[in-house]
Amino acid sequence: MEKGKINVTTENIFPIIKKFLYSDHEIFLRELISNAVDATQKIKTMANMGDFKGELGDLTIRVKVDKKKKTITVSDQGIGMSAEEVDKYINQIAFSSAEDFLTKYKNQANAIIGHFGLGFYSSFMVSEKVEIITKSYDTEKPAVRWVCEGNPDYTIEETSRENRGTDIILHIDKESEEFLDNSRIEGILKKYCRFLPVPIAFGKETEWKDGKSVETEKDKIINDTNPLWTRKPVDLKDEDYLSFYHNLYPLAEDPLFNIHLNVDYPFNLTGILYFPKIKNNFEIQKNKIQLYCNQVFVTDSVEGIVPEFLTLLHGVIDSPDIPLNVSRSYLQSDSNVKKISAHITKKVADRLQEIFKNNREQFEKKWDDLKIFIEYGMITEEKFYDQVSKIALFKNTEGKFFTIEEYEKLIKENQKDKNGTLVYLYATQKEEQYSFIEAARQKGYDVLLMDGYLDTHFINHLESKLKNSHFVRVDSDVIDKLISKDEKRESKLTAEHQQELSQVFQSQLPENKTHFSVIFENLNETDSPIVITQSEYMRRMKDMAQLGGPAAFYGNLPDHFNVVINSNHPLILKINDDKEKKCRKDLEKYDEKIKPLEENKKEIETANKGKKDDEIPQADKDRIKDLDDKIQEFKEKQKEVLKNFGSKNKLVRQLIDIGLLSNNMLKGEDLNRFIKRSIELL
Ligand code: ADP
Repeated sequence: MEKGKINVTTENIFPIIKKFLYSDHEIFLRELISNAVDATQKIKTMANMGDFKGELGDLTIRVKVDKKKKTITVSDQGIGMSAEEVDKYINQIAFSSAEDFLTKYKNQANAIIGHFGLGFYSSFMVSEKVEIITKSYDTEKPAVRWVCEGNPDYTIEETSRENRGTDIILHIDKESEEFLDNSRIEGILKKYCRFLPVPIAFGKETEWKDGKSVETEKDKIINDTNPLWTRKPVDLKDEDYLSFYHNLYPLAEDPLFNIHLNVDYPFNLTGILYFPKIKNNFEIQKNKIQLYCNQVFVTDSVEGIVPEFLTLLHGVIDSPDIPLNVSRSYLQSDSNVKKISAHITKKVADRLQEIFKNNREQFEKKWDDLKIFIEYGMITEEKFYDQVSKIALFKNTEGKFFTIEEYEKLIKENQKDKNGTLVYLYATQKEEQYSFIEAARQKGYDVLLMDGYLDTHFINHLESKLKNSHFVRVDSDVIDKLISKDEKRESKLTAEHQQELSQVFQSQLPENKTHFSVIFENLNETDSPIVITQSEYMRRMKDMAQLGGPAAFYGNLPDHFNVVINSNHPLILKINDDKEKKCRKDLEKYDEKIKPLEENKKEIETANKGKKDDEIPQADKDRIKDLDDKIQEFKEKQKEVLKNFGSKNKLVRQLIDIGLLSNNMLKGEDLNRFIKRSIELL
């Protein structure tokens, strides 16, 4: 037996492996099996090249757990190692400039292990002792046994092993006994080794015999050695992609589309991505893409490797060219990774274009589900915007689809305002905004349906992209002003009448958290007498507030609506006439009282004209205040008169309720009263 010291420049390697690499202990199994797979692939390659002439035999890699002996054994029939090779590959750990790196990355097991090729040594994270029993494919070389107890001392001696290959025997330490549990090991194997290219056996298949499950002789193979993404797209059918998808995500609905990635220049990358069907917006899940390196599972967090919006996709990506063992921030600046990311984006865009060109009908059918991905991509990735802006669709309220370009053509004639801005009208709820949509259609306008989760953002983005264009929600103003053309119309009401009517209406509006302002517009007499609108700006801010971010402040403001009264509508004129009949006398009575007060006030003000505040005599100041109070008092009385009129005038209430009703704001008791009043009026 020979003894020696493992050749590391720092003695600290073992404590670091054991203590600091705590986060990812389970990866020891991935590392050992990867080595076993490599050794197996090597012997296969040698056989193919004619460098190995013996029998390949059964190449299955076997994992065994012995609970009593507290060991885990990984056995392969790969290339094996001679004593010299064990010395070269296992004893001499290249460990230059280790100190710095170790202190920097002491919490990132992956980084250290990858960086130093410490794959095998990760077994010391869970073992107090590790044995290697190995026999080279070279029949001249005897089998060797190497033992190390987690310190720089090892022993190596000749031993007997019948066949070519390697057993790695881990003597599991006290703190790691969880790994002696079969189901734990099976879980780890399923996670990391599910698609490895060499069969991996763990335990035996079971079958039902006499009412209970018994083990058979047959090995239980836990992996699919030939996963779909490694096969040629031409050999695969839709069903293959579908069943692979359900294999990966047993609970998911059928996906919308798949994309088979297959690149070998300037980097190596294969994979299959799926557009999942998202049932509702609350269900959006990121990190469903699995990342593999030569069929070894690495991670399911692909941020930094694919663009943000593609993290919504599902599927697998396999590339030996992604530096997997480095930190995320390093990843993002890696030029290879940038190329890969750009390439995947382009592939996704190409595939969408292909579907659009070959089968627009299908593309439209799936649009509602697809649109969240496409809008997300267009908002966040400049390149993607350019790639798909010709195929991104608008859907109008009639359910018809248009590309952005087609839609622009459709509305170009009719929907330009007096400044030449193209106005895109949209609704967010077809039912609730029905009366506004109808009014716009009557006018020959088209109305888009923008009811998606990202549409508020998307609209903002489009406005920054499309020249001279503006999006306006169909209920954000009266029809004439949605797209303001250069037509001036006279008002049939004087300013004074408008002011009085404004008080009549204001006095009858509901008093709650919502704030209403009454304004008059000189609309057509055939337009609605009353419309309740919410300004586009305010509403967008509120929508944004709901999505969080800097606009969240707007979320706390009360809702603010405009009650727009058509000063030319016969019903409004009728109310005005009625008001004249019933209130004019009373109003005038107070006007007469107000008049001398105002004259008096004016006199005092003229007398003091040009004086600074402290030069005005206190008596005058008091007098003015007194007059103001009195004037106010009479004005309140006038208000009272108008309010009283308003409360008795059924038409006023009725019109307000109609306005509220077409905005879905009339509910409960008020709605009930409206119905009763309607019947009375009939
Ligand atoms: P890496 O796999 O990154 O090279 P490891 O420390 O895991 O680093 O392994 C070091 C070397 O030991 C391998 O490159 C290989 O030559 C040899 N080796 C490890 N495990 C086996 C095995 N099961 N069969 C044959 N050779 C092995």
